[in-house]
Amino acid sequence: MLGERLIRGIGMTSQAARDRMVRQLRELGIGDQRVLEVMGRTPRHLFVDEALASRAYANTSLPIGQGQTISQPFTVARMTEALLEGGVPERVLEVGTGSGYQTAVLAQLVPRVYTVERIRSLSMRARNVVRGLGLHNVRYHLSDGSWGWMQYAPYDAILVTAAAERVPHPLLEQLAPGASLIIPVGRQGQAQRLQCIRRLGSGFTATTLHTVHFVPLVSDGGAA
Ligand code: SAH
Repeated sequence: MLGERLIRGIGMTSQAARDRMVRQLRELGIGDQRVLEVMGRTPRHLFVDEALASRAYANTSLPIGQGQTISQPFTVARMTEALLEGGVPERVLEVGTGSGYQTAVLAQLVPRVYTVERIRSLSMRARNVVRGLGLHNVRYHLSDGSWGWMQYAPYDAILVTAAAERVPHPLLEQLAPGASLIIPVGRQGQAQRLQCIRRLGSGFTATTLHTVHFVPLVSDGGAA
């Protein structure tokens, strides 16, 4: 089934479309060659519904069902670039698997990815697509990711792909020394700040990368 989609996808959304997307990302200021290369070869159209496949390489977010969206290519690139700054992290936790596109990009750049999603159908679909691409260095978990994923903590980087009103404490606690948490912070309907929070000694430093628009991080209220 996936093989069939892959084959049909090649005509509909060719390498040329991915090359165009990469050129656009470069123009928008993405400079990390590793990120551009991986995004240039990852078949993003397989992560969206077939009806939307022809729009998969435009620099926009697209619906993936359940009221959720696949992040726009620029945001994926920027977050991944931030994550690689200062060296390749060994173990990365991603909160908000969604379509699995960001997961697949990460899995080609770092040794191990741990990804948490709260909606079962999305997690299952993402797992199938990512595995179908031959990427097997990812562990999937169905749960409220604002609690992190204690079993495999600490992480060398944590990336959250849904907007939190406040930074969930468990995520800070699950950062290894020197590790960074990349997270959009702010209310829905307002501009959110993409923050990079680094664990240094007993404290944290925060920098704002730019403003973004994400779907909300939905939590039971305990952690977020
Ligand atoms: N990186 C994904 C982004 C998907 S949108 C992609 O590019 O496809 C954000 C995702 O976060 C949604 O799938 C949503 O269901 C999930 N999400 C929201 N709150 C969550 C939570 N508390 N724990 C885990 N996943 C969450």
